[in-house]
Amino acid sequence: MRTSIATVSISGEFPEKLGAIAKAGFSGVEIFENDFLTYDASPREVAAMVRDFGLEITLFQPFRDFEGMPEPHRARAFERAERKFDVMGELGTDLMLICSNVSPVSLGGIDRAAADFHELGERAARHGVRVGYEALAWGRHINDHRDAWEIVRRADHRQVGLILDSFHTLSRKIDPNSIRSIPGDKIFIVQLADAPLFDMDLLYWSRHFRNMPGEGDLPVVDFMRAVAATGYAGPLSLEIFNDQFRGGSARALAEDGHRSLVYLMDQVKRLEPDIRIDVPDMPDRIAVEGVEFVEFTTGPEEKANLAALLETLGFARTGQHRNRAVELFTQGAIRIVVNTDVEGSSFAGASYSVHGTNAYAFGLKVDDAHNALRRAQALDATRFAEPRASGETAIPAIQGVGNGVIYFLDGSPALANVWDSEFAAVAPASQGTDAGLTRIDHLAQTTRYDEMLTWLLFYTSIFSTRRTPMVDVVDPGGLVRSQAIESAPTPSFRVTMNGADNRKTFAGKFLAEGFGTSIQHIALATDDIFATAARLAGLGFQALPISRNYYDDLEARFGLEPAFSDALRAASILYDRDDQGEYFQIYSRTFGEGFFFEIVERRGAYAGYGAMNAPFRIAAQRRLARPDGMPKV
Ligand code: MG
Ligand code: MG
Repeated sequence: MRTSIATVSISGEFPEKLGAIAKAGFSGVEIFENDFLTYDASPREVAAMVRDFGLEITLFQPFRDFEGMPEPHRARAFERAERKFDVMGELGTDLMLICSNVSPVSLGGIDRAAADFHELGERAARHGVRVGYEALAWGRHINDHRDAWEIVRRADHRQVGLILDSFHTLSRKIDPNSIRSIPGDKIFIVQLADAPLFDMDLLYWSRHFRNMPGEGDLPVVDFMRAVAATGYAGPLSLEIFNDQFRGGSARALAEDGHRSLVYLMDQVKRLEPDIRIDVPDMPDRIAVEGVEFVEFTTGPEEKANLAALLETLGFARTGQHRNRAVELFTQGAIRIVVNTDVEGSSFAGASYSVHGTNAYAFGLKVDDAHNALRRAQALDATRFAEPRASGETAIPAIQGVGNGVIYFLDGSPALANVWDSEFAAVAPASQGTDAGLTRIDHLAQTTRYDEMLTWLLFYTSIFSTRRTPMVDVVDPGGLVRSQAIESAPTPSFRVTMNGADNRKTFAGKFLAEGFGTSIQHIALATDDIFATAARLAGLGFQALPISRNYYDDLEARFGLEPAFSDALRAASILYDRDDQGEYFQIYSRTFGEGFFFEIVERRGAYAGYGAMNAPFRIAAQRRLARPDGMPKV
């Protein structure tokens, strides 16, 4: 698979971009003329630099306002083109992109444009280069790839071909199946971009909101299926204009881009089994059966506080690692691992020294852990492995996005038995401490807003998950965007992501204090929230107190019986409801740098996460906070 990315798609200085692009696994780059006009190097120096990174230049662009010009503009356009052909010779690339004319003086007419392209083809042949014609969605006369193809067909010249761009086709809702009848060898390059659905001016939408395939809402897979049907075998080139990306990390953006192309072609291959698709074989998206465990790293002193919190939540310490300072706390099907083996060079130790106490790892129960690892690696995830003592099980694992680790467990003998083989059973300190918590409902990860798409693509490309619509949560310090990833069809694995772009928000403070992205809360499920609340009270659990105003508002909003809302209030239970069912939440007080537990009960098929309650939760956390806005430990 030949992959390419336009250098404008990512941030940074020119050499930094090239380095990131090469490292992410791309084979080529599209060079925007501006990239080296603003970078102080000649075309030959740029060519040498690109080659030094092991990349090819797939395309030189853009050439604007060429076809259908009246004289004297027409003659000048040809002269301009020939000067660019010379530059291309120095750059060592043979393909130039010509986008459809937007000039008000340009004249329409398919035959006029075709004649211009035929003549340009003659000149291009003398320079040993080719030209590709792209219909801009906002072109003055040509704004549809079907018309651009008709011009290329009538131009009837070997050096003249078509350039397809998924954004231009899909933003205008043109049926991508119209591509299937174009000969693949007349498509000179395919540019790919997705975008969130917005009803706005096409040019503005394109210049500011494009994103990687799979990150937006456009049917890029259908587009690419049609392209594959033509027999097109050239590079797949990302052309992404996005204001947010321009401020992001070049490395992360290049990695996202490469992952997006591999994922896209993996989907196309599964949907078009009769077409040869040049993408590595890999297992299908991984079905996640649930979260098998969450692991905290903590220091010896803080461990006592964490263990005390777990015990007030009804957990029992049931296991002690045979070789390491690692303890296992369990309740229902929930396993919490507390790792204080932070001396030396372990990852847990490194995570603790950088982030303090944090939930840095989790394990997912999957059908086949080794297949899961294979898929994740095929999608550019980094394998995670640490030295093991003899007798310790090698659990397949990858680095998550952010600073965490994701382990894969399955029903194979070695992995199913890992808890017994690695941990010695510990007699519980007391009997009957269980609070009725059954399993992990969801993990909530907090990230910088501009990293949310990275996470989204990571989870949806590797795992069989879907994303829910983004919800805005109003925090007194600013806006927090929240979006969930859920396994489908059964939501046995749920991750909510909160994107904060502002240090003043509670989520933003968690990020700033924690120096990175991590699990901010773990939601534990119960089948009976009131019984659980009563058990927790007996265990000395201190719920996050919720204001009386909340309950007055709730009663009015849902028309609740006063006795019911009194019962909620007495146990600091938050409540929500949708068409499908009801949702009950209790929050713990915060621990460490803002971590907390949530206890939830879903009744019926309630699909959400209580987003409407988040501002009340945040306000309550702030009331308990230190003067600087951070929670009391
Ligand atoms: Mg384009
Ligand atoms: Mg939650």
